[in-house]
Amino acid sequence: MNPFYHRARFLTSASNISQAPPDEGAEVAFAGRSNAGKSSAINLLCQQKNLARTSRTPGRTQLINFFSLDDQRRIVDLPGYGYAKVADTVKKRWQESMAGYLEKRRCLRGIILVVDIRHALKEFDLQMLEWSLHRDLQVHILLTKADKLKKGAAAGILLRIRRETAGSGDSPTVQIFSALKRQGIGEAHDCLDTWFELKSSGQKKDPGIQGE
Ligand code: GDP
Repeated sequence: MNPFYHRARFLTSASNISQAPPDEGAEVAFAGRSNAGKSSAINLLCQQKNLARTSRTPGRTQLINFFSLDDQRRIVDLPGYGYAKVADTVKKRWQESMAGYLEKRRCLRGIILVVDIRHALKEFDLQMLEWSLHRDLQVHILLTKADKLKKGAAAGILLRIRRETAGSGDSPTVQIFSALKRQGIGEAHDCLDTWFELKSSGQKKDPGIQGE
């Protein structure tokens, strides 16, 4: 358990990058198809019940939500994707705001890609990997809802995804996760610590991160 992440607080929502907080310090963004378990993962890692809303609220789902950890570090909840029913204009707006954020955000250190272990990897996930590769961004894949599978089956998928994604740039790291069973928290925190340049205690700041 790493208490540094428990201090996450909602900062602001943005429908496009012009409404985002100043592009300084360090951000890690969480992405995932709708219903993959992204909100549950953020809530668990930050040890808060309702930080990222697990129920989808119409109108808010298309926004980029920013949470501050300290004055230099933020977690970002990117809008989910995957509703076949949403209008094309909504999809287009989603693509534009995502692409704008992913391409332009200089303080972005990496992407946590939340994937339902039973559906790994879908077109959206591959697109995210491609975008990240294009921008030379690190990716860490959380294969979540692992509790839905037997241990051996989950381990098999972990190996397959590692194999499939190896060699795409700085190969993504992949782990098993379950919000329900609280599995994988330490490994995910370790990844965040590295990207945020935090010491292993998770609480001391590395003077390396300053405003840009
Ligand atoms: P989001 O749309 O990606 O933010 O997904 P949510 O976090 O809202 O989760 C979607 C559904 O999956 C909810 O009913 C959650 O309770 C469920 N869920 C999320 N994580 C897990 C998990 O690790 N295990 C199981 N069994 N269900 C999960």
